[in-house]
Amino acid sequence: MQNNQFMAVSISNNDKSWVAVDANSDFPIQNLPFGIFKTSNQGPRVGVAIGDQIVDLLGLFVLGYLENLPFERSDFETDTLNAMMKRRKKACSDLRLRVYKLLLSDYPDLQNNQHHCDQVIIPQADVEMLMPVEVGDYTDFYSSREHATNVGTMFRDPDNALLPNWLHIPVGYHGRASSIIISGTPIRRPKGQQRPSDDEPPVYGPCKLLDFELEMAFVTFDGKPLGDTISTDEADDYIFGMCLFNDWSARDIQKWEYVPLGPFLAKNFASSISPWVVTLDALEQFRIPGPVQEPKVLPYLEYSGNKHIDINLQVAIEPEGGNETIISNSNYKHMYWNMNQQLAHHTVNGCNIRCGDMMASGTISGPVPESYGSMLELSWKGTKPLKMNDGSERKFILDGDTVIMKGHCEKDGVRVGFGEVKTKVLPAK
Ligand code: CA
Repeated sequence: MQNNQFMAVSISNNDKSWVAVDANSDFPIQNLPFGIFKTSNQGPRVGVAIGDQIVDLLGLFVLGYLENLPFERSDFETDTLNAMMKRRKKACSDLRLRVYKLLLSDYPDLQNNQHHCDQVIIPQADVEMLMPVEVGDYTDFYSSREHATNVGTMFRDPDNALLPNWLHIPVGYHGRASSIIISGTPIRRPKGQQRPSDDEPPVYGPCKLLDFELEMAFVTFDGKPLGDTISTDEADDYIFGMCLFNDWSARDIQKWEYVPLGPFLAKNFASSISPWVVTLDALEQFRIPGPVQEPKVLPYLEYSGNKHIDINLQVAIEPEGGNETIISNSNYKHMYWNMNQQLAHHTVNGCNIRCGDMMASGTISGPVPESYGSMLELSWKGTKPLKMNDGSERKFILDGDTVIMKGHCEKDGVRVGFGEVKTKVLPAK
């Protein structure tokens, strides 16, 4: 190995990789997201996406390309990213930069060794992606003003749609980690208690109003000890990266159960995520200012710099045997509360976070109906059915439907994307 592996590397939007990357790919060299994959003859391991290929980090480690970084073989020969993330922010950023350099068009070490390339560059088409993270605790926020306003308008009072706390607190609840699943895993329509009308007794059966929620989630490093807090300024150091997140929701079960303690069985039957975790480092150049927050927030929720991110988001429904219809175009920039505020709020009481915790944004709805992030809003409680390309209509999600969410950032000719989270709904058991 040549000594130039220790050269400092600076990232430029003009950089290209010697691995061919299509112009429309979500995974140029400026992205390099992390995931877990396995092949027909090799067990689970850490990989990094480049174009339609994967770089095998276990392979890189074994061949000596990751020398002088604070990682061990077991950090990559594993079925979750947790061991790698245990090394914390600086180590993971340096690791990504090392992979960046190895893939750079004018950097010879790996590209000139065809034998090594054959071992560590693997077509994505030949692998199975696995859950990237062992999620310890999962929290779901409720941070889109438009979504909260729409829900408040439909179910409470249009003139006072936001509850009194909403503009002061990044409202959230603790969800369930065990049912977070990887894209491609089908779900069963959940069953549960519903009360179809206010003057009838409750019934039990398959959910009739199955919905998705378009969200983004972030994954954390280990935080501080119990009792300590993480400030908005410190928050970036505790966030590894982000993925697409579909928070499946059973609206009829939700309506009957949620008073007084909030979401329970209407939410915890499944949440689907995309397989690649895009690092906060890769998203840095897509930061933008957030909305003016009025009334002024309490000091612990104040923040400096651009902490919102411009991420284009799309939702499509693919009926059984049919073609997909795009039903929503939204953007993560519509968040009222950003991740730094969410994490500062989550820890302000001394609650500790751990490596592999997942925190979702809450449904991301934009200002116009075409940008709403759930069927509840898109069909306005079922009063405005959506037209599908095949002529059918949707008020909520039907058995056999596949819901597909995609997301990407784009600026100065560089596209950094998340791939997709795609989930088919099967009939209730
Ligand atoms: Ca949600």
